[in-house]
Amino acid sequence: MQLHSLPGRVIRKLDPVFRLFLKMAGRRCTVCASVIEEPTPGTVLCPLCAQELKARRGGFCGMCARIYALEYDSTHLCLDCRNIPFSWQGMSFFSSYQGLLKSVILRYKFSAELGLGSALGTMLAEAAVFQPYEHLDMIIPVPLHPARLRQRGFNQSLELARVMGRKIGLEVQPHALFKTRNTPPQTSMKRKLRLKSLRRAFAANNSLVNGRKVLLIDDIMTTGSTMEECTRELFRAGASEVRIVFLARTV
Ligand SMILES: [Zn+2]
Ligand SMILES: [Zn+2]
Repeated sequence: MQLHSLPGRVIRKLDPVFRLFLKMAGRRCTVCASVIEEPTPGTVLCPLCAQELKARRGGFCGMCARIYALEYDSTHLCLDCRNIPFSWQGMSFFSSYQGLLKSVILRYKFSAELGLGSALGTMLAEAAVFQPYEHLDMIIPVPLHPARLRQRGFNQSLELARVMGRKIGLEVQPHALFKTRNTPPQTSMKRKLRLKSLRRAFAANNSLVNGRKVLLIDDIMTTGSTMEECTRELFRAGASEVRIVFLARTV
């Protein structure tokens, strides 16, 4: 007889340690649902998924995370960032928007599965610690326009920020930033044009932001214009420091 097919009344009579073992024996990967052999506490991914979902440590622009074909280190800024630098004072991210990470983010957007949110929020927390963050006051997620929020039912950046906040011990402030205009999704528009199209599309609440040091969060970065417009708005509202963290950079 398979261990996990024992009837409940038998399992309840077992020693608690053995019961815990049974529970662990049946633990499944959050992403692919395969059984995780010998999981350690806190493990939610099977070794194969964990192998594919690894944080990127080099080969990207240190300001906008543009992925380089060559392994330059992150002090090497891309041409766009040297011409028109972004306003944030620090950036970190998990990896490029492709492969398994892309499919997990898409699945999460359309299903809002708690397990996936927890796995992605944990990756966001992992990305956060690649830059100094302990001195920051709060996490602020990039907001959705109310019309978009009604359509989708949840703001994925806010949910991920909540998981991340618990992991790194920072408070999440969901009302500091709001979207005032419903703008079309990011396209491959040039940085300058995209920035123009987003001008004043966000507003920040001065009373929550003034004098505070902020970690701004989003799931995907395409041109960086959304994060830039939010950063500028936070500075206008008196923020003294803005750093950004996101999950995936489009390639
Ligand atoms: Zn897996
Ligand atoms: Zn760049």
